[in-house]
Amino acid sequence: MRITFLGTGGARFVTIMQIRATGGWILEMEGEMIHIDPGPGALVRAKQYGVNLRKLTGIAISHVHSDHTTDAQVVLEAMTEGTLKKKGVVIGNEYVFRGDGENFIPVFSKYHLNSLARYEIMEPGKKTSLGKLGIEAVSAKHTEPKCLGYVFSGKSMKVGYTADGEYYQGQEKHFAGCKYLLINCHRPKESPLKGYMDSEGARKLIEKVKPEKAILTHFGMKMMRGVAEKEARWIQEKTGIKTIAARDGMVIDSEDKKGSSLDKFLN
Ligand SMILES: [Zn+2]
Repeated sequence: MRITFLGTGGARFVTIMQIRATGGWILEMEGEMIHIDPGPGALVRAKQYGVNLRKLTGIAISHVHSDHTTDAQVVLEAMTEGTLKKKGVVIGNEYVFRGDGENFIPVFSKYHLNSLARYEIMEPGKKTSLGKLGIEAVSAKHTEPKCLGYVFSGKSMKVGYTADGEYYQGQEKHFAGCKYLLINCHRPKESPLKGYMDSEGARKLIEKVKPEKAILTHFGMKMMRGVAEKEARWIQEKTGIKTIAARDGMVIDSEDKKGSSLDKFLN
């Protein structure tokens, strides 16, 4: 299992100023390679960090906000060899494929969808698979009402991703048994905002899920200048669970013989 961060920034101002990159993240597990939330710059960051997007077998999108979707069509083109091959799978919520008829247009054109082996509209509790990799969509409480988190299940481990959204009661049950838990933590505990995760919400979730390692990412402005790292340390102290703030280009490799390469990032 390997995770590569093509960006750890999120929300409006970090994105438009590119204070941190916003290319989403790549999961390699059970022989599959999935790009999750390919936001602005995903293509360029993949090049920068040596990730070959032509090897992708899937794209998973949590919701239609632009910091999660801007590069989705060109990433799909990489996956399908410039749409010349009918391959790859895209999953996302209803708005990703249909828009909402008012505020959001669909993320992909028909032309792009036609080049896929398959695409699937997901909703909370729905399960699908990509080869040997199981994927379940879970609900998220975000300002985009159909936002979805995902749980990826392989033979020997599960990786959970909250996507955007505030902590809600019962969220932990969706991520039970996850070895790694990725949390889009926009804000520090002192600055909560409805619909967004802050570090107090992340602490609650981590305490209840008890993953082996928790990884915070998708930081907003208030998490810049070392605050994200400080909040991760605070969560680790409070919960006793290894918690890190992801960095752009960071790679987590569970198969690293010398110990997880994540360990060098741990506080
Ligand atoms: Zn969002």
